[in-house]
Amino acid sequence: MRLVLFDIDGTLLNSEGLGRASMQKALATVFGSPGDPSYRYDGKTDKQIVRDTMRLEGHSDERIDAGMERLIDLYVVGLQEGVKSGKFKVRPLPGVLDILDALEARDDVVLGLLTGNIAPGARIKLRAAGIDPNRFRVNAFGSDHEHRPELPAIAQRRASETLGVKFAGEKLIVIGDTPADIECGRSLGARAIGVASGNYTVKELLAHKPYAALPSLADTRKVLETIMNA
Ligand SMILES: [Mg+2]
Repeated sequence: MRLVLFDIDGTLLNSEGLGRASMQKALATVFGSPGDPSYRYDGKTDKQIVRDTMRLEGHSDERIDAGMERLIDLYVVGLQEGVKSGKFKVRPLPGVLDILDALEARDDVVLGLLTGNIAPGARIKLRAAGIDPNRFRVNAFGSDHEHRPELPAIAQRRASETLGVKFAGEKLIVIGDTPADIECGRSLGARAIGVASGNYTVKELLAHKPYAALPSLADTRKVLETIMNA
């Protein structure tokens, strides 16, 4: 059995800046500034984005923690409104629906999410892209921990608690578009598959020594083979 854990942004879907726009609006409302426009969101957890950008604006951790809950609430509202507005075309990336179908059809794979998105944000983005969030049975979200390297162990523990299946570290397959996805499961021995459908190239991803790096998830046979051999 393998637990196959997908990142969301840049891996399963593209939201054309919906997340960033919603975050910046919420940051401006709660902390008075949308944060440095050059700060990269990809590979970060939502709360890490808040902390990093607001530290750069000179806010203390106490002040950031005090505003976090309201920030997250406003961010979720912003996502919902952004989807409703039709301004952001949220779409699944090429091959995503096919590889999810192919994995779901197998009895030696459990599908899951490993994402920096807080749980409600993940569901809003997935639904907007036409991907049913309930397809993913074991998940670790940015709302479970601010620090991404903690997330693989959370997914592993959840699989044990909810499915009664104990996955060894090397049976965790982490699929994502950034070096942070590749690095996060290393201490557990998880297998990382980089996918260059976000802002990093195959060459850049390979520099972080994943099990494999693919240009995209478009070639279902190749992706499935890579996952099942990992
Ligand atoms: Mg990503």
